[in-house]
Amino acid sequence: MRIDIISALPSLLESPFSHSILQRAQDKGIAEIIVHDLKEYGLGKYRQIDDYQFGGGAGMVMRCEPLFELIEKLLKERKYDEVVYMSPDGHRLNQSIANQFSTKENIIIICGHYKGIDERVREELVTMEISIGDYVLSGGELAAAVLVDSVIRLIPGVLNNESSALSDSFQDNLLAPPVYTRPAEFRGMKVPEVLLSGNEAAVEQWRHEEAVKRTQIRRPDLDAEY
Ligand code: SAH
Repeated sequence: MRIDIISALPSLLESPFSHSILQRAQDKGIAEIIVHDLKEYGLGKYRQIDDYQFGGGAGMVMRCEPLFELIEKLLKERKYDEVVYMSPDGHRLNQSIANQFSTKENIIIICGHYKGIDERVREELVTMEISIGDYVLSGGELAAAVLVDSVIRLIPGVLNNESSALSDSFQDNLLAPPVYTRPAEFRGMKVPEVLLSGNEAAVEQWRHEEAVKRTQIRRPDLDAEY
């Protein structure tokens, strides 16, 4: 999968992609993440990428020209499955969207700043808008990093133990069951007996029951949501 991220502050994205699972996915050649500095496409001597809002009001808006130039250049180079704009008024990200994205080949992600991007970019070039939750961030970079992380870890071959993504929360509309590691007893607190029994079927059943219990208590809405 190739992911082109368009950002006015590319250095914000350096760290999230250079550690752990996301770095490994790139090292293995499973994912390629390219961060484009939008300022390189800015206008004039000062590489301007934003301007005042028509109609007045506080806050700058990201101009059309730099975004059109860069995105059209990319679209000529290869076919993209989606041009995504990170935006608080987009579809709320969930595991099912992450699953869908993990099967795609090439995507572009636009990170906004200030009041957002000129509406004409959204009308003409953007094919999908994604929000990471009902709150407003100051820029799209952290949101893009969340989307990319949630997607890349689902691509087969990225996680060492293939089945581990399948047992995470939200796959199957269930939250994950509790997990324990050594020691079996800590300050008098014991790990549930069944997990030490070596009885795989019993462990599986216990985990399922705990997952159902936890989901019913914490997220009774999940059934309805997916
Ligand atoms: N004026 C806009 C918010 C702009 S915030 C509004 O009220 O809808 C600046 C940028 O941060 C946005 O362009 C978007 O790219 C990003 N952003 C902010 N909150 C986000 C969220 N919840 N999900 C995804 N992106 C977000």
